[in-house]
Amino acid sequence: MNLKEQNNKNDFFLDTYKRIPLDISHGEGVHLITKDGQRYLDFFSGLAVNALGHSHSLIIKAVTEQIKKFAHVSNYYLTDVQSRLAELLIKYSGMNKVFFTNSGTEAAETAIKLIRKLKGPDGIIFSLTNSFHGRTYGSMSLSGREKNIEYYSPLLKNMNQINFNDKNDLIKKINSDSAAVVLEFIQGEGGINVLHPDFVELLFELKEKYNFLIVADEIQSGIGRTGKPFAFNHYNVVPDIILVAKAIGGGLPLGALLTSGDLGNVFSTGDHGTTFGGNPVACAAGIVVLEEVFEKQLISSVEKLGDYLYSELVFLQQKFNKLIKEVRGKGFLIGVELTSECDPIVEMLRNRNVLVNCTNKNVIRILPPLIAGKSDIDFFLYNFHQVISSDFS
Ligand SMILES: *Cc1c(COP(=O)(O)O)cnc(C)c1O
Repeated sequence: MNLKEQNNKNDFFLDTYKRIPLDISHGEGVHLITKDGQRYLDFFSGLAVNALGHSHSLIIKAVTEQIKKFAHVSNYYLTDVQSRLAELLIKYSGMNKVFFTNSGTEAAETAIKLIRKLKGPDGIIFSLTNSFHGRTYGSMSLSGREKNIEYYSPLLKNMNQINFNDKNDLIKKINSDSAAVVLEFIQGEGGINVLHPDFVELLFELKEKYNFLIVADEIQSGIGRTGKPFAFNHYNVVPDIILVAKAIGGGLPLGALLTSGDLGNVFSTGDHGTTFGGNPVACAAGIVVLEEVFEKQLISSVEKLGDYLYSELVFLQQKFNKLIKEVRGKGFLIGVELTSECDPIVEMLRNRNVLVNCTNKNVIRILPPLIAGKSDIDFFLYNFHQVISSDFS
């Protein structure tokens, strides 16, 4: 497809995305293949969705078998696939109840409604600066990335932000009116920012004193992406509520809110619901994801190769410190902050058949599928090294 055709096809759509000029034919494992036969290493993974890569045989099998039985029945019925996926989520999260949604933003909305019902209208719900929790009104009101919210006031009331990793700001703002703190332990869209253990420790100390809820948004960082089941597992803490989405559906739309303690009893019948949330076909794919990542230990390879990727990038950072400011993240959620905008480098990598993404203007976000092997990481590192040494030394 030439650029003109691409532009014509773009005419069908609202202008909300800056489209990447690739005409995708199909995917195979860690690769995306275009109609002109080019093979790309996909270290974007559909934005942290395709944990098992593309066209995974077990996902295809599970989805096919499920759709032959039924594609949808409504949440008025219990289904084996939903129950099995809920059981696995509970087992690996330490939570005890599940509410399924279609997406991440709906999981965040569910959390906001639950917090409001439990804590009342006046409680303050906090997020952290530069956080991202979704695009619908509630989750957008919660998000700390101002570029997304400037046109849309009025936002929901009684929400506020705490400066990321700022213990003084935390002490200043938290008090007996605080209803909840919603946070990404490793921020994704915000540029792969890792919470400091001291900040987390203080947050949980304050929770003891003031009894607010802590909600971990693990929509991007969960399901093994950081080399542990959830990003909060890197800290010695357990949140009250966990939000998941992205990787959980194996490429199909699925999200969930997981609760601990008595929080599963806050909603009663009719308080909240969804037509499609927890769709059986998506759940069938989700079971495969959790079995592969947790039961079959894909996660230990993520931890090991993530350490390798990180240390090789730190090595490059030291060598090219005029271009690379910092390397951040854990497992397969890695950000390389540049001293300049990262779009040109992302494009040069694409010209070398490597797909990564640029977030927060100057952070290259590297999101390998969890099935990526050492040779895939090495292919990325080789090309990244070539790009930065040829053009930026
Ligand atoms: C992607 C994302 C969301 C929103 O999920 P959608 O499925 O796009 O609605 C929320 N929080 C975080 C941390 C995310 O990365």
